[in-house]
Amino acid sequence: MTLTDSTTETTLKPTPVRRNRPGTKFEDAYQFPHITLDKYESAFALQEYLQSLIRTNKEDIDLLVELPPGHEEDTWQYEHLRQLCLELNYLVIQLEAECNRQSCPEMKADEWMYLCAAHPTPTNCCAIDYIVHTLDGATTLLNSHKYFPSRISIPETSIKYYQSIARRLYRIFAHAWFHHREIFEAFENENQLYARFLKLSDRYGLVAKNLLIIPQNNNIDNDDRDNTPSSDVSN
Ligand SMILES: [Zn+2]
Ligand SMILES: [Zn+2]
Repeated sequence: MTLTDSTTETTLKPTPVRRNRPGTKFEDAYQFPHITLDKYESAFALQEYLQSLIRTNKEDIDLLVELPPGHEEDTWQYEHLRQLCLELNYLVIQLEAECNRQSCPEMKADEWMYLCAAHPTPTNCCAIDYIVHTLDGATTLLNSHKYFPSRISIPETSIKYYQSIARRLYRIFAHAWFHHREIFEAFENENQLYARFLKLSDRYGLVAKNLLIIPQNNNIDNDDRDNTPSSDVSN
């Protein structure tokens, strides 16, 4: 049920319209108050709730990642992964200022080199192509009606894709951290997206700890990981 139809709105108790009206200035957008999840009436309640949480509590990473009462972990992770893809596009826009075929002819992060899985055979795409292909691939998969026919119930057989999606999205952060540090830090200061990703990964076991190559707290500490240069061609 939607409340956007004015004929039905009059018959229900008044609910503030939670959308930006035409002509809303950017700085005035999304200025409606955060409400609890049970107040949302749209089919995209969980997505709207998450986006509202991010707008109002961007720095409260624990709160952002905590499973809302009465909801399934599978659907909550799904919304987070979709949201990460959306927001990573803004990091890509920043990266495009200095990441190109000349500066980064291969997709590397520290000593690791990754092959792009978005092709019939794993391909040595330059970093920015790898990043764009990977984001597009993740978005396409998450929007696939075949694998994710409903946002309310996730098929058991599709949950396995969360880890491969998260592992590949992580490499975008890693490339930015190792090769475009200023851009990474400016973006992170503004958005705390990597902090959210890490918390999500930790909470739901998305990326194995030995694959997390960005040093925690900016201290280089490689003791607990295998630092052998590697490429990943898995799907
Ligand atoms: Zn680069
Ligand atoms: Zn590619």
